Amino acid sequence: MKKHNFSAGPCILPQEVLKQASEAILNFNNDDLSLIEISHRSPAFVKVMENARSLVLELLNIENKGYSVLFLQGGASLEFLMTPYNFLKTNGKAAYLDTGTWSSKSIKEAKLLGNIEIVASSKDKNYNYIPKDYHIPTDADYFHCTSNNTIFGTQMKSFPKTDSLLVCDMSSDIFSRQLDFSQFDLIYAGAQKNMGPAGATLVVVKEAALGKTGRIIPSMLDYQVHISKDSMFNTPSVFAVYVSMLTLQWLKNLGGVAAIEKINNAKAELLYGEIDSNPLFQGVTEKEDRSYMNVTFTLTNESLKDKFDMMWKGTGINGLGGHRSVGGYRASMYNALPLESVQVLVDVMRKLNN
Ligand SMILES: *Cc1c(COP(=O)(O)O)cnc(C)c1O
Repeated sequence: MKKHNFSAGPCILPQEVLKQASEAILNFNNDDLSLIEISHRSPAFVKVMENARSLVLELLNIENKGYSVLFLQGGASLEFLMTPYNFLKTNGKAAYLDTGTWSSKSIKEAKLLGNIEIVASSKDKNYNYIPKDYHIPTDADYFHCTSNNTIFGTQMKSFPKTDSLLVCDMSSDIFSRQLDFSQFDLIYAGAQKNMGPAGATLVVVKEAALGKTGRIIPSMLDYQVHISKDSMFNTPSVFAVYVSMLTLQWLKNLGGVAAIEKINNAKAELLYGEIDSNPLFQGVTEKEDRSYMNVTFTLTNESLKDKFDMMWKGTGINGLGGHRSVGGYRASMYNALPLESVQVLVDVMRKLNN
């Protein structure tokens, strides 16, 4: 039996996608060649790349709105640096919201290139909430935020209106809920949280926002270079792009983001409901800022730890340990995790109470 995989990332992928992907490793397109031994410029792979790109625009509902989709490498972590290279004017200024480890890492990289203003931070309470009252300076070239804080378990429910360009790291909740994606000038996400295996980074960028910094940008860090080469300036990570395409196709067949959002809501309500009603557990984050992807919680009585750990491990649950900077537990419930797996977890939590 497959495990109930609550891993924070790399994450669970749909079983049928894994099966198709493994078949393509041996024999892609019935051509008696492996997906990973053919040219990335072959018509068969170019079609994969084109299909992946158009699925992204379709699922995010931003077709024909001036966006380019790229599949790059270097993870979301390299986007921390590519963002200021492409959007921060020489002698310009950028505004950042600090909501966790990943935000602070993005701030650290941006500071290498210029003047960064942190408009608000929730570090004072170990990032257990999303700051709300902050002001984005009118002269900021862009505002950067992290939609979902994978480690701490908070999620932005709305995004500020600003005249600056709006940039968002959506690594851990892209394609999980409906948003007006056309409000963003740049969205990026490492594939391995909700889309595919590690090795590809999704970038969705509004072309009109590019080319305004006056900077000399190294080729590999320049979105315009990658756009002009259809994500094939260098050899793309073909396997990660292919599996991402299969996952996006799976999501489309399921009914798209609207359909998965309903399932994700049901999963989150089930688990938070148990956390709030079971006296042996408590949530880590402020209720209004709770993440529907990564649910963080602790035992109210630490002496039950060994017993609880033995119980959930015994049911085939995997990856429930909290991040070392938070402790406790973290249940990551990405798109491919079925509601039944959450029910298994909730049943264990209820049994602990008896
Ligand atoms: C995992 C994660 C990252 C880092 O992604 P890499 O692809 O490993 O560089 C960045 N931001 C968020 C929100 C994440 O969850």
